[in-house]
Amino acid sequence: MASPLRVLIHGGGIGGLTLATALARRGHHVEVAEIRDEVEALGVGIIQPSNALHVMREIGVLDACLRAGFEWEILTIADPTGNTLAEIPQPRMDDAPPNNGIPRPALAGLLNAAAVDAGAVIRFGTTITELTDDGTGVDVTLSDGSTGRWDLVVGFDGIGSPLRTRLYGDRYVPEYTGFANWRVTVPRQPQVRGVVMGTAGQDAKALLTPITEELMYLGAVFAEPEDFRPDPERAHEQLKERLTMFSGPIAEALATVTDPASVVYSRISQVTVEDAWHVGRVVLAGDAAHASTPHLAQGAAMAVEDALVLAQSLDAESDVAAALKAWEDRRRPRAMWVQAVSRAVLKQETGTPTTPEEDELLKIGIPGAAHVLVKPY
Ligand SMILES: Cc1cc2nc3c(=O)[nH]c(=O)nc-3n(C[C@H](O)[C@H](O)[C@H](O)COP(=O)(O)OP(=O)(O)OC[C@H]3O[C@@H](n4cnc5c(N)ncnc54)[C@H](O)[C@@H]3O)c2cc1C
Repeated sequence: MASPLRVLIHGGGIGGLTLATALARRGHHVEVAEIRDEVEALGVGIIQPSNALHVMREIGVLDACLRAGFEWEILTIADPTGNTLAEIPQPRMDDAPPNNGIPRPALAGLLNAAAVDAGAVIRFGTTITELTDDGTGVDVTLSDGSTGRWDLVVGFDGIGSPLRTRLYGDRYVPEYTGFANWRVTVPRQPQVRGVVMGTAGQDAKALLTPITEELMYLGAVFAEPEDFRPDPERAHEQLKERLTMFSGPIAEALATVTDPASVVYSRISQVTVEDAWHVGRVVLAGDAAHASTPHLAQGAAMAVEDALVLAQSLDAESDVAAALKAWEDRRRPRAMWVQAVSRAVLKQETGTPTTPEEDELLKIGIPGAAHVLVKPY
């Protein structure tokens, strides 16, 4: 695109801030409408696999991510007592590190700083209230009463995407998988220098993920009724009750958890927009378009890939419509593959019957998927 565009991003989460940085660094005029009042994120960690770190390098924040996080290379599979069953080296994309664990608040903070440094304007506490696309531009009113005309509006507004509802009504509603993720941040044990997946067969799996020199998080997935919520007085006890089959490092990690409020409970849902991800000059990306289960640790990685590839497509094409088409052609197959493999792994790990197509996908396994995902996005 020859001249700078005016781009409004709805949602300043991981994908939205990555896009803001990538576009502002290219000279586009970028604003982000973020409904939260300040930079904030769940107080747990996230894994940045090599493809996500490759994007972080492309937008200039790789070193900041590695400084704030914990770089690691070996995935360890362990039995319930902590004995190592397998050590699996993780692949890297070009010269990006294989993986980085990082606290979500640190990632949010550094992406926000990068977007602002690049020249993007972040408008906290705002959301879109009116939007009209007349084919040559999009007129938007924000909740603070301000109005503007934009060449492109991007919905990076998460799995519950209000912009998706604006485009497609209730055609795409997140579907609860029947499983939920329990997470808690604990002191890092010195031997946990990469993800340790403790497995008690189909009864339970629990992951320890280092996120700083001092901290790691413990995560585990269980079948839970849709309306279940942990008891605010004893969530930590409820988590321990679900992991009684573990001794060793996982039990030691659990023993340090005394505050029920430190337990983060997230229902696992997914959504796929099967129609086009853009309608005119309004486009959905990241979880808003294709939220997947967390079993490959690739949801945010797909969101940041979406962001960078969108910026690259706008560079390469002569108009917005062509760029959005080229972007979706490139992104949809990969995001759909991640979603399908991730869902199949959830089913396999929880003993849920799989389809023949899912059995085919499962032949590749989590380590094989990592090798596929370090190929160019
Ligand atoms: C349990 C769990 C573990 C996970 N672990 C990993 C992992 O290890 N690695 C990984 O890559 N991925 C992981 N993911 C997935 C990852 O968190 C998401 O895929 C990723 O955050 C999606 O990024 P996004 O920018 O699309 O959406 P989000 O990061 O959800 O950002 C959406 C933003 O939009 C804002 N917003 C919402 N509504 C509005 C509105 N009306 N107006 C303005 N702003 C609005 C929100 O406040 C938010 O800031 C995990 C997910 C779960 C549930």
